[in-house]
Amino acid sequence: KAEVEMGNVVNKTPSRLWNAMHRYNPDAEQTVAVSGEGSWFTDENGKKYLDGVSGLWCLNLGYGRQEIVDAAAEQMKKLSYFPLTMSHQPAIDLADKISDLLGANYQTFFSNSGSEANETAFKVVRQYHHQTGNPGKYKFISRYRGYHGSTLGALSATAQANRRVKYDPGVPGFLHVYPPYSYRSIFGGEAEESDLKAAQMLEEMINWEGEETVAAFIMEPFISGGGVIVPSTKYIQRVTDICKKHNVLLIMDEVVSGYGRTGKMFGFMHAEGVQPDIVTMAKGLTSGYLPLGATAVKSEIYDAFTKEGKDNHLRHVSTYGGHPAACAVALKNIEIIERENIVERVRNLGKKKLGKLHQLIGHENVGEVRQIGFLLGLEMVADKRSKIPLNELKMAGIIGKCKQEGLIIGKNGDTVPGQNNVLIVAPPLTSTEDDLDFIVETLSTVIRSL
Ligand code: PMP
Repeated sequence: KAEVEMGNVVNKTPSRLWNAMHRYNPDAEQTVAVSGEGSWFTDENGKKYLDGVSGLWCLNLGYGRQEIVDAAAEQMKKLSYFPLTMSHQPAIDLADKISDLLGANYQTFFSNSGSEANETAFKVVRQYHHQTGNPGKYKFISRYRGYHGSTLGALSATAQANRRVKYDPGVPGFLHVYPPYSYRSIFGGEAEESDLKAAQMLEEMINWEGEETVAAFIMEPFISGGGVIVPSTKYIQRVTDICKKHNVLLIMDEVVSGYGRTGKMFGFMHAEGVQPDIVTMAKGLTSGYLPLGATAVKSEIYDAFTKEGKDNHLRHVSTYGGHPAACAVALKNIEIIERENIVERVRNLGKKKLGKLHQLIGHENVGEVRQIGFLLGLEMVADKRSKIPLNELKMAGIIGKCKQEGLIIGKNGDTVPGQNNVLIVAPPLTSTEDDLDFIVETLSTVIRSL
């Protein structure tokens, strides 16, 4: 019923496609997207929709950028693939560029997706500890609600009950702490105080497990798929300090937050003085034009893989990782982000336009509005006092009504396992001011009509 409300099910010829959104009826079909331009796409019936979630928060530069299409085509004509023991220029240039953007010396391994970027990080971390005399350090800590991917290792770091329950047991050695989620804090105190207590839980866990067993902590600077959680930047600084103190490597998952989404080139840059040991990225790295994942590793860590006379290399390979066309697309994507001052644009318009959605806090069903740049979540509740998550059918009704009006938004959160009560707005970073007004007006009207 909820899927029907969301407008996800239309009666048509059954297809052979197994789509991630086919929830209960394998014969049901989704709206079929046919073409796109800017922030808008058109379906097979000619209806236009504003893509308020940037595909899956990846289309940072929107649909149909001819320059990016040309970069891919030209690269494919010139060198469509490469002998695997060789390098190619787009990958070399891109690794350099990533290191520049991160503001320190990083060495980058390319793959095909965010999940793979994180899997690579886990293997790098375990091998690094082996090669630096700490083979007992194998455990990974992540946060409840964090999302790190769909493959079994990345899924084991993902602590969202509804994604895990039928695939457990996960990979051994993955542990979880509570996130800095002050709206429903189990720690108490005002937002920042509660966030810092959540950071303290990380140190407690490292101490209890024994720091000689803990390899790394993985976090998104701002939890995205788990309900858009925007902690105090002091939280990010505090967990960074805790990791350093215990020789626990910090893996920053910038798959969603990277490349401008939050109003900085990378999300961690909101927290002064933070420089993660490893940064993983995908999505916005190519603005979704071609698949590419990247695991950027501080040079000090990379050094452990290059010591002379030892068999120290990383035993990890990806046939299509760092494909020349994908790297060429990423380089063009970054060039445009810089040339058009996209990051600054997100900071300004995030506040001036999308920020108007904060006014909805006056509505009884809006528990909290959380935002950083072009990443915004509205936590929907039955009423402000009880904070009971708004029921699934009403959530679906909001999303379906927006869709009817030509606006695509999403929901996530997993607040009660399996129940997603956070509405997600994350439009392309190139959305025009009119596009942003359309989002604010449409969503406000739908919510006010509840
Ligand atoms: N990390 C985060 C923070 C993500 O949101 C996602 C995807 N939603 C991933 C990792 C996994 O990326 P992919 O789907 O490309 O494997």
